[in-house]
Amino acid sequence: APEIRFEDVHFGYEREREILRGLSFTIPAGQTVAVVGPSGAGKSTLARLLYRFYEVGQPGQGPQASGRITIDGLDLRACTQASLRRAIGIVPQDTVLFNDSIEYNILYGRPDAGPEEARRAAQAAHIHDFISALPQGYQTAVGERGLKLSGGEKQRVAIARTLLKDPPILIFDEATSALDSANERAIQAELRQVARNKTTLVIAHRLSTVVDAHQILVLEQGRIVERGRHADLLAAG
Ligand code: ADP
Ligand code: ADP
Repeated sequence: APEIRFEDVHFGYEREREILRGLSFTIPAGQTVAVVGPSGAGKSTLARLLYRFYEVGQPGQGPQASGRITIDGLDLRACTQASLRRAIGIVPQDTVLFNDSIEYNILYGRPDAGPEEARRAAQAAHIHDFISALPQGYQTAVGERGLKLSGGEKQRVAIARTLLKDPPILIFDEATSALDSANERAIQAELRQVARNKTTLVIAHRLSTVVDAHQILVLEQGRIVERGRHADLLAAG
């Protein structure tokens, strides 16, 4: 797995309002770094920069950004979107699914995998029962004429896709925030399992959910105000 580095990253969606104000941190190869902090601190923004939804280090119009993000020393700007899509698996807060079957959505990113693998991933993400409970024919279509999935169900489809894809870099952006508590604990365990030895960025709003991260960054108003392991941060209050 690769090492990820943020070097003095500044970012603002608009000229006058800086959202990230000089972030520097490293996610060592195969480790998990968690970012916690209040809503609006810039946690999702930071995650979006890593998969190049927004660009860092591109002065001029639009978003204002400076600094550098590297993967194994390679500037993110030198990576193609295609290579990033292969290397990074994302479970976002609000999943948008393709207007296609659930199986298609799960298999996306793993064209070589078959229905049996999709089924196993669906099972691990606790979505299998729900798929098979639907009437034949109608059963797996997502979108306007098909299923209306709840936020939690969509999130579980995204989790199944990521479990199956098994990429070297993972981003969990409040990956279980839409789940009911019955599913949450079991699926968190699956996520931890898949994150083992992967370079992982976890975004969470509660410190209590990131107990076993190698390092936790506390983000407030676009700045890292504290960093350490779970026990250190608890001790610090
Ligand atoms: P968090 O994930 O910590 O809740 P976000 O990164 O979502 O924080 O948001 C940080 C700040 O950036 C907020 O003030 C939010 O309103 C603003 N923001 C987020 N996305 C956009 C956007 N696409 N355009 C303009 N401002 C945005
Ligand atoms: P909460 O709202 O309880 O803080 P979130 O839904 O915001 O939790 O997201 C926390 C997510 O981070 C969960 O999906 C959890 O599985 C994941 N997570 C926490 N710690 C780790 C870890 N060490 N490795 C992988 N994933 C983790």
